Amino acid sequence: KSGFITIIGRPNVGKSTFMNRVLGQKIAIMSDKPQTTRNKIQGVYTTDHAQMIFIDTPGIHKPKHQLGEHMMKVARNTLRESEVILFIVNATEKKGPGDKYIIDMLKNNSTPIVLVINKIDLIHPDEIIEIIESYKDELEFSDIVPISALQGNNVDSLLKVIESHL
Ligand code: GDP
Ligand code: MG
Repeated sequence: KSGFITIIGRPNVGKSTFMNRVLGQKIAIMSDKPQTTRNKIQGVYTTDHAQMIFIDTPGIHKPKHQLGEHMMKVARNTLRESEVILFIVNATEKKGPGDKYIIDMLKNNSTPIVLVINKIDLIHPDEIIEIIESYKDELEFSDIVPISALQGNNVDSLLKVIESHL
């Protein structure tokens, strides 16, 4: 089994950290500064059963100028070519305009979407249910997986979920 997995999410939600944890090498640029990842960078994670080709989208934001619109087109094309979309959100921040913009972009897309709630090491477990509540009516998610990309919590479960869609 083999397929493309597109990672999408606001700047700083932990997309690069997740990719680096899975791929075990610093192939995506990591920084506290938003929108460090300028180009889509892909890495391949191979298990006995599957080959997962990960794509890290450029920081998605409302297009205010040419560069923004170009980056949006890159992101949309990437979404269309994927077997699975990982929509990563930050467990420590409320759903904001940036998330709503991504949700709109993901509507009318037939690709399975996994809601990944990242940075759970920074919150109380009871808060996870509130985050799920705030997202679950926005889109149809095939799965919802809370993780800590930094500490590695539940990342194995997420990889199994991804594999189930390939
Ligand atoms: P990106 O913009 O979505 O690629 O986000 P980054 O991967 O660059 O992460 C942004 C910041 O969040 C960095 O300082 C990371 O160390 C931090 N971060 C990412 N994932 C986690 C996590 O699971 N837990 C915690 N505590 N911090 C995280
Ligand atoms: Mg990044």
